[in-house]
Amino acid sequence: MGAESGLRRRVSGLSEAEFRARFGSEAQCRAALFALRWGKGWVCPACGHSRCAELKTRALYSCNRCKHQVGLTAGTVFHWTKLPLTTWFLAIYHLTQSKGGMSSVELARRLGTRQPTAWLLKHKLMAAMEARDAGKPKLAGRVEVDDAYLGGARPGGKRGRGAAGKTPFVAAVETTADRKPRRLRLTVVKGFRKKEIEKLAKRDFAVDSNIVSDGLSCWAAVTAAGCDHFPMIAGSGPQAARWAPFKWVNTTLGNIKTALAGTYHHVSPKHAQRYLASFAWRFNRRFQLDTMTERLAYACARTTPHPYRIIIAG
Ligand SMILES: [Zn+2]
Repeated sequence: MGAESGLRRRVSGLSEAEFRARFGSEAQCRAALFALRWGKGWVCPACGHSRCAELKTRALYSCNRCKHQVGLTAGTVFHWTKLPLTTWFLAIYHLTQSKGGMSSVELARRLGTRQPTAWLLKHKLMAAMEARDAGKPKLAGRVEVDDAYLGGARPGGKRGRGAAGKTPFVAAVETTADRKPRRLRLTVVKGFRKKEIEKLAKRDFAVDSNIVSDGLSCWAAVTAAGCDHFPMIAGSGPQAARWAPFKWVNTTLGNIKTALAGTYHHVSPKHAQRYLASFAWRFNRRFQLDTMTERLAYACARTTPHPYRIIIAG
C-alpha cells in the first residue's frame, strides 16, 4: 500500500517557521482574514458604500457613510470567536499539514487550550472543509467506487459488509483515463441499497460518468442517475485489493483506516461524515500542501457559522 500511496507524492508543506512568519501575530491573521473576505474591496452590506474605518480594538469595520458596523468574523466559521485568530490559524495549520488529521487532545496541547475547546474548533474547521467540497462539481469521467465501513475491514479476508455498529460509507475516486486519482468523495450512507446508491449518484456523479465497481448489486442503481456502470467481478480478499481497477480506491481506503486507527480511538457515527469529509478535503489538495492554510482559512471565511448546537447534532 505505502509505496503506491497518492498521499506520499506531496509537494513540501509549510514549515512551522514559515507559518509563524506569515500568521504569527493577531494583526497578520486579521489582515489575512480581511483579504480572504474582502480581497476585491470592502462593501457595506447596508448601503453598498466601499469605504470603512477599522475599529482596531474589536476587529470591526464601520461604514464611512452610514456607520453600519461589520465584524471581521461575523457570518463566518470564526463568528464572534473569543479565541484569538492566531489560535484558529494555528489549528488550521495543524489540521491541514498532518495527513491523518489530529486528535483533539493533541491539538489542545499544540494550541494551549482545553481539550473541549480544541474539539469544537476542530469540528468547526472540518465543517468548513465539508461545505467547501460539497460545493464542488460532481465527479465525472472515470469514477471508481467502493463500499466501506468506518471502523476498518474485518481481519482475515472478508470485508465487513453489513457489519453491525459500523458506519457504512461510499468511497468514490474520480480518476484520469490512465487511472490516476484526481478527486475523492467519501459519503456516509444508510446502507448499500439501490435506493441509497441512486440518491448518492444523482447528487455526486455527473451524467455519462463511467462508474467502475466491484459488482456488488447496489451499484447497478447508478444507471438511474444517467451513469454507465462497469462492474468488475474480482473476487474478494487481498487479491481484490491488489487488482488494478481498484488500486486507488483501495489505497485511499487503506490510508484512511491507518490514519483513523493512529489518530482516533473512536469516531462517533454522528460525526463520521465530517471526519470523512476532512480526509477527502486533504486528499483533494494533496499537491497544494504549501497553500493549504490559506485554502482552509478561505473556506472558513465563506462558510456560515457552525455553533456548538449544530456541531453536536452531527
Ligand atoms: Zn454603509
